[in-house]
Amino acid sequence: MTLTERMIEGARLNHFINGKRTAPRSGQYLQSFDPTTGQPWYEAADGDAADVDAAVQAAQAALVDPAWRRMTQSARGKLVRRLAELVARDADTLARIEMRDNGKLLREMQAQLGAMPDTYHYFAGMADKLQGETIPVNKLDMLNFTLREPLGVIGMITPWNSPLMLLTGTLAPCLAIGNTVVIKPSEHTSASTLALAELIQEAGFPDGVVNVVTGHGKTAGEALTRHPGIAKIVFTGSTATGRRIATNAAGNLVPCQMELGGKSPHVVFDDVDLDRAVNGVVAGVFAAGGQTCIAGSRCFVEARVYRDFIERLADRAKRVRIGHPADEATELGPLALAAQLEKVETYVSYGVADGAKIAAGGRRPQDEALVRGWYFEPTVLVDAKNEMRFMRDEIFGPVVGVMPFRDEDELIRLANDTHYGLAAGIWTQNIDRAMRFARNVDAGTVWINTYRSAAYMSPSGGFKESGYGKRGGFEVMREFSRLKNVVIDHSGATQDPFVIRLR
Ligand code: ADP
Repeated sequence: MTLTERMIEGARLNHFINGKRTAPRSGQYLQSFDPTTGQPWYEAADGDAADVDAAVQAAQAALVDPAWRRMTQSARGKLVRRLAELVARDADTLARIEMRDNGKLLREMQAQLGAMPDTYHYFAGMADKLQGETIPVNKLDMLNFTLREPLGVIGMITPWNSPLMLLTGTLAPCLAIGNTVVIKPSEHTSASTLALAELIQEAGFPDGVVNVVTGHGKTAGEALTRHPGIAKIVFTGSTATGRRIATNAAGNLVPCQMELGGKSPHVVFDDVDLDRAVNGVVAGVFAAGGQTCIAGSRCFVEARVYRDFIERLADRAKRVRIGHPADEATELGPLALAAQLEKVETYVSYGVADGAKIAAGGRRPQDEALVRGWYFEPTVLVDAKNEMRFMRDEIFGPVVGVMPFRDEDELIRLANDTHYGLAAGIWTQNIDRAMRFARNVDAGTVWINTYRSAAYMSPSGGFKESGYGKRGGFEVMREFSRLKNVVIDHSGATQDPFVIRLR
């Protein structure tokens, strides 16, 4: 019986450790809720340090087991491709599980799942391209070269907003390179990762190569970040949690890769088709209910077109169709968590208290069909200022603050006046201006006349408090492997033992 078949109301889901579904040592489970109704759905194992330790030990054993360590790189690549095929086969099921878990639109999930097999195929191609180099040195009878090796056991802590997609971007390369993995999904969205684990097993990965421990951040998550058997922590989530994780990992000198929050500037100049820019801003902040780290939540509009633009933006926001995520016509579903809804309401009230004006939204929809779910109207707050609380902190909801700017100097100052540095977008027909912005803005990704167009072939990752390390493209080879230097003396000569050979 597959996990999907077992995903009935009230089902109990266990950890996936060493190829087996494993009950939590404590016997405790945590409750997951359906965001469209606020009602309980399934229970997932509430893992603790003992479960994490069992998973790390399984991953450590798998790392040195010849079944994985001595698998040829071509065979490893084929395994990752097999997983791609299984994800493609079960795409619709995986999409529906995640929709039910976090309220994401079914059509967005179907698009994500459509691209996911390609992501595995892309990184599978890396398995047989991991290579070192020969280094010419001033010792003519020596061969000096590098070996690129798997890094070790990778601990992955994932968030609730796009669990499978965000996992795939790092899991696929980690497996292709030959690492082993312990995943701790968000306590709010354990189901899709556990479903993927079943496919990993079906694909034929040796036991222990991928392990999933579910549970809370403060217990299971913290235990993973403090475990000395981990070679690297990969984290996607809030900046506050990232800071804590990096501190814990530092205790064991374990490096991290951090994809954290954002408060990304989205810029509109007066030389563009305003309706096109309006759609870009809407997509940038209201897609996925604004629950994306790259949301373009600070919108800067050139003063000459400011009034015209905010009118069109408010009008467009009011026309966004709010509804059940499974409905084809829906453009905005519920927020994933009750706490998130409260946070959004609080920040909108901060915005109003600080002097911004609501041009659209600003409240929960009153529609009978939606009042029980965690829905919030797409909200446009105009006449915002960078120093307002809702413009400084990441909200992670469908809220955009809009303000005018006079010239490029002022724009760059405002755009960079944030702790974050994840992404930025600009709409203009003037390529010189667009390039000046791209060079001067503190953001890991800059979109020109587009927004939110991510690709697994290109490196992504933020600056400043948005994190460090890159995902996507060839950069990940360096992120998830280690480089070893090997030196061979083939002179056959007997050397003086107390002289280091500098030449
Ligand atoms: P949110 O509060 O919105 O869930 P977080 O950034 O705190 O966002 O959570 C992202 C992931 O980090 C989740 O899997 C969560 O369980 C985990 N997490 C939270 N706190 C910790 C912690 N102290 N140590 C390790 N992981 C944590």
